[in-house]
Amino acid sequence: MAKTSAYITLWYWIVVDILTCLVIDYEILSKYCPECTTVKRNLGEHSADFSIWYKAHKPECSENYVRSSNAMEVKAAEILWKRSVENCGMRYMNVLSDGDSKT
Ligand SMILES: [Zn+2]
Repeated sequence: MAKTSAYITLWYWIVVDILTCLVIDYEILSKYCPECTTVKRNLGEHSADFSIWYKAHKPECSENYVRSSNAMEVKAAEILWKRSVENCGMRYMNVLSDGDSKT
């Protein structure tokens, strides 16, 4: 009984950890720029005002993946998913199998 609930707790943390890794990785990759988002909303993404503003802002802009298409984002998410599962998941797989071998 106690062992089962310990496993459930462990699996819960595995899921949380994998999701957290995914979110952090994805945010680093897409580097959301709040300034760009605000100005885009106010001026319009394709307006002349925005392109003038963006030229000045570009060197300090944190949004490095402006040109990325949806297809690229899907691909990136796929890579991140695989990498995160390897980084986060495998660590726990080892913990789990270690625990099994003792019994
Ligand atoms: Zn920006």
